[in-house]
Amino acid sequence: MTALHSSENTVQLIKDTADIVAIIGECVTLQRSGANFKGACPFHSEKTPSFMVNPDRRSFHCFGCGEGGDVLSFMMKYHRLTFPEALQELARRYQIALPDKTLSAEEQAQLRQREALYAVTEKAAALYHRLLMESAEAEPARRYLQKRAIPAEIITAFQLGFAPNRWDFLAKELGDDANRAVAEQAGLLVRKERGGHYDRFRNRVLFPIFSQTGKPIAFGGRILDDGQPKYLNSPETPLFDKSRTLFGLYQNRQAIRKTRRCLLVEGNFDLIALAANGIDNVAAPLGTALTRAHVRNLRGYADEAILLFDGDTAGLKAAMRAVPLFLSEQLSARIVSLPAEHDPDTFVREHGPEGLTALVNKADSLAEFVFRQLIEQHGLSVEGKGKIVHELKPIIDAITDPLQRKIFVAHFSDQLGVTTEEMLSAYQPPPRPQAKGKPAKKEHSLPLPQTQRQLLEFLSLYPEYLPQFINAGIDTVITHPMGRAILEALHTLHDAQATVTPEQLLTALTGPERAFVSKLLISAPTATDETKEHEAQEKITWLQENSLKTEQKRLTNLITEAQQSRNIPLCMELMEKKKAIDLRLTP
Ligand SMILES: [Zn+2]
Repeated sequence: MTALHSSENTVQLIKDTADIVAIIGECVTLQRSGANFKGACPFHSEKTPSFMVNPDRRSFHCFGCGEGGDVLSFMMKYHRLTFPEALQELARRYQIALPDKTLSAEEQAQLRQREALYAVTEKAAALYHRLLMESAEAEPARRYLQKRAIPAEIITAFQLGFAPNRWDFLAKELGDDANRAVAEQAGLLVRKERGGHYDRFRNRVLFPIFSQTGKPIAFGGRILDDGQPKYLNSPETPLFDKSRTLFGLYQNRQAIRKTRRCLLVEGNFDLIALAANGIDNVAAPLGTALTRAHVRNLRGYADEAILLFDGDTAGLKAAMRAVPLFLSEQLSARIVSLPAEHDPDTFVREHGPEGLTALVNKADSLAEFVFRQLIEQHGLSVEGKGKIVHELKPIIDAITDPLQRKIFVAHFSDQLGVTTEEMLSAYQPPPRPQAKGKPAKKEHSLPLPQTQRQLLEFLSLYPEYLPQFINAGIDTVITHPMGRAILEALHTLHDAQATVTPEQLLTALTGPERAFVSKLLISAPTATDETKEHEAQEKITWLQENSLKTEQKRLTNLITEAQQSRNIPLCMELMEKKKAIDLRLTP
């Protein structure tokens, strides 16, 4: 029991210490709105912010998708951490000691495994970086970076590294088999068929990829000779999810947030070259096409994305694919088409940062750009128009907002010289608001009867009244499954500790029950002690009367039964009891 208590105290201490507005504010742009902070929800697509953070109640809630919780649940959900990892991350940040007993044996084992993966990746990053800076065999790598005009401070800021042209550099440095097994899991070593390991990265300049919490989790590597492949990235690992991670986002997050704009480039080197020229509001997807998760991730930092793709046909294809992502995530997107012979690196070297900024300021709307390219490609003959309408389909289908969809269709059909109806007939009807893949909202609207809801709202905000409410008979009133779950959580918390706070209740719940409480914590005004007490007494009186009425009914039924079986003494006794209740119920 003591162990449990002290571990709960540590978790509580961490939650009390962590600044929920600062923590969430790192990934979501928040603005004050009364007692709350407001922002665009990172868990579903929306243009009008309905995601709220309440610093006093240390909780968040989204009125759009119902996601809600405390600072730990945010860390878990947003950064995809396990509970122990989220706990450890916050403990580290706020310098709170985390006693071993805070976690179960299984959680500790899980945490140690992840820690080992982080540690080996961090160690590799440090080794590769030192090699680049100091070793003689890194001379070609240093010359290469020099030739591309990358200054030392950028090499340091991005912790660039060098993997030597050897099969066993890292494998040897890591020493024992246990370390090598971890490095294999981290994607740094590859297992040989006949046993043993070899280095995945050889003869490459390395770009470590950092998580949004600032830890190296993977590498991108560029070959130094004519070897293949030219670019090699770490495979997906338990730490590294390509479809969510953007290279440079960690290092450049402040600049992106400050300018509210993020330039998206295709390669790691483009990003480094731009940074070397003082352009640092840039991020790059990692050898994959842009995904919806990338775009959603960016939305927390920027109001618009500028695609800076090479001026070739591959760039156009990438742009085509990206349009629906930006439309469905409702992030503005524009595109800069570089002159055909250029990539961002060569362009900025020739025209300087001013030249690039001028180009960026003139950037086209992404959808317009794609549309114009389609006209160029297919022409405006009847057949060409048909093809264009067909190719616009995925773009139009991705628009979830009906008004935005209407505007787009009207705009494109006008330019194509077809009627809106003709154009619409080629497309599906707009997705229903409850489209699949969106967080389910149905639990939200579970019809919790009003009386039960009011009682539970009050108790969730002021759990200190639980004993009095129980005495007054609340257990018989709350019959709805969701209400039962909340009441039981309150019971359990109350049995375990002297005082229960709404935040603890929030943490103890999951699913629709948690959404119920998190929404309440965000929206309920803070009551004065006087109004709170007044409301409590009103509810207790109502509960007491309700219990008496229930008892009254029960006795009436029993009396009827006793009369029918002609049990006169029982009948008399019951009538006495009922009379006492009748009296209590008469005002
Ligand atoms: Zn949401």
